[in-house]
Parts: sequence; C-alpha cells; structure tokens
Amino acid sequence: MSRHERRRFRREVSGPDLITSLVRPDDPRLRGVPILFRAVRWWLSCLPSALPPKGCLLCERSLWCEADVGAILLSMSATPTTCVACAGLCLDCYGRADWGRIEAACTAVLQTAVPDGTFVDPVLQ
Ligand SMILES: [Zn+2]
Repeated sequence: MSRHERRRFRREVSGPDLITSLVRPDDPRLRGVPILFRAVRWWLSCLPSALPPKGCLLCERSLWCEADVGAILLSMSATPTTCVACAGLCLDCYGRADWGRIEAACTAVLQTAVPDGTFVDPVLQ
C-alpha cells in the first residue's frame, strides 16, 4: 500500500490508532488497498473449512461461504502492519438489522481485538 493509498483510506474510514472498515466482500474500494483486498479474499476462502465455523458478529449464525456474508469488518493498526483482523456480518443482518446494533456489535468485536482501544469513528456506512 502506498503512502497515498494509506492516507486516502484512513481519511475515509479511520480513527487515529486502528483503521476499521465495514465493507461488502466485493467493495470495489478494496482493490485500492491490496492488503485489505488480500485479507478479505483469504478470509472468505477459509469459510468453508473453518472449524469451528465462523459466525456472524451480530447473530452468530454460521458463515459457510461468500454468499452468506453481507459485510466484513476489517481492522488493522494504523502503523505499518501486515496484520488485518476480519469479522463477518451475515447477509440477513447486513440487510435488515438496525444499524445501531450492527455498530455496537462491531465495537464489541474491536474491543476484543484491542482491549484498551476506544472506537473513535463510526464504521463506514
Ligand atoms: Zn447475522
């Protein structure tokens, strides 16, 4: 990821310490941020064989393939890193759940990943 790409992406989605984004699995903006694009493709490729299966971050329904996934919560440190955390939101929740509940669930996931972290900006809508 070039500096310019990183700046652009941060401006769109970030807090100062943890870059977070809730994106559709096929969001075209991912192509502009290769580390996130690769993380999403890798995460999706792991779904069919994940044991235990990965669950929706809101309703905990099992996610077995890309078609089950409405959106993916991505988070990575704002400092240079190759580590991207992914969590899935199922298609039903993405389409129907109240946005406040989705955001609260995303916040809970992120606080698990970063115990002392605070969630600065709302996730990308
Ligand atoms: Zn769900």
